[in-house]
Amino acid sequence: MTTQNLPGQPHLAYRGNELFTENICLSELAKEHGTPLFVYSKGAMLAALAAYQRGFAGRNVQICYAMKANPALGVIQVFAEAGCGFDIVSGGDMDRVLAAGGRAENIIFSGVGKTRAEMRRALQAGIGCFNVESEAELEVLSDVALSMDLRAPVSIRVNPNVDPKTHPYISTGLKGSKFGVAHERVLQTYQRAATLAGIRVVGIDCHIGSQITQEAPYLDAVDRMLDLVEAIEAAGIPVDHIDFGGGLGINYNGDTPPSADRLWENMLAKLDARGFGQRQLMIEPGRSLVGNAGVCLTEVLYLKPGEQKNFCIIDAAMNDLPRPAMYQAFHQIVPLNPRPEAPDTYDVVGPICESGDWIGHDRTLTVQQGDLLAVLSAGAYCMSMASNYNSRGRAPEILVDGEQAHVIRQRETMADQMRQERLVGATPTT
Ligand SMILES: *Cc1c(COP(=O)(O)O)cnc(C)c1O
Repeated sequence: MTTQNLPGQPHLAYRGNELFTENICLSELAKEHGTPLFVYSKGAMLAALAAYQRGFAGRNVQICYAMKANPALGVIQVFAEAGCGFDIVSGGDMDRVLAAGGRAENIIFSGVGKTRAEMRRALQAGIGCFNVESEAELEVLSDVALSMDLRAPVSIRVNPNVDPKTHPYISTGLKGSKFGVAHERVLQTYQRAATLAGIRVVGIDCHIGSQITQEAPYLDAVDRMLDLVEAIEAAGIPVDHIDFGGGLGINYNGDTPPSADRLWENMLAKLDARGFGQRQLMIEPGRSLVGNAGVCLTEVLYLKPGEQKNFCIIDAAMNDLPRPAMYQAFHQIVPLNPRPEAPDTYDVVGPICESGDWIGHDRTLTVQQGDLLAVLSAGAYCMSMASNYNSRGRAPEILVDGEQAHVIRQRETMADQMRQERLVGATPTT
């Protein structure tokens, strides 16, 4: 039997006419658990993490998985066991990390709109750092910490004003972005932080965007950040850690981002040249750790040939895979059991009543009704953004580890969906 790896997808391979993740046959999983179905490779996640670890060998670094990419407890558990910290963006994210066995002191809390209640709970739990995104937030955090007789560990998120050259919705480090404190106001913000009794400055951070496929924006951000650290420390405020955020892209459609180890070799050379190579460093990768570790399995419900377009209607939709609708994103779509006949061109679409509910335009496929397909690169920003639109239950998730397939989330039922709802006048049940 011939084995054929999928380009850029080291954990996916055809063995004969069957697509496998690690040693698990995907069509068998689909038959057992139904579709749509998310399948993640633990090996692929750990291999992605290992690339960062190689790049940082011998350095003082904390890798914080940006869990908004994929917040499944079973995924968090993989990274917690591998020694990662976590970048969270809500109090709910914190609860997930703690429930999955992560440690509070390894949590950093990002986001422009933290509530007082979230601050209080995070202080109570003893998280490692608040990545503060505005001067107003700094004042409120100091207040909340003082009311608890605590000092909040703080890093100020800098908006370094560099163009990550990615989709505008996932650019975060340009002027005009809602994220971070403007480059020119950073020193003043640190000076203010140093006077606030409820604040303890511990670091500085930035995050310039997502799905970044070039090195230059990162290298620009390093220079901007180090200039700021020098200025802040010259003003007498020590900055213990420097956090460069996440954002490294993955291969969706022949994209060629630098590998994590290459990128960091070059970043560290720059840090070394400026005398910062032995600092405590942090990074917050999300997509690059999980994106290509996941696929979404789906069944072809109907083929609908047309004069202008042929439609391939599948049972996964924009509520499961929101990236095409949100960002015009591209996901490769491949058959689980390839057919030898000549292909046709299809728009691959879901059942949802929106024209925006497409998964792929103009795809060349040989398919028949009832065939199973895999939507690739579905490990990041798919389930984490899934919804119940059209009363669709969210798909189950499977974590594959060698020969084993663990269900880490069951399919959402209609009872799950309706649990919090009440008819007017109905007697409340408990
Ligand atoms: C989303 C986010 C990340 C992770 O971004 P990726 O592109 O998934 O690596 C890291 N840090 C912050 C603050 C974020 O908002």
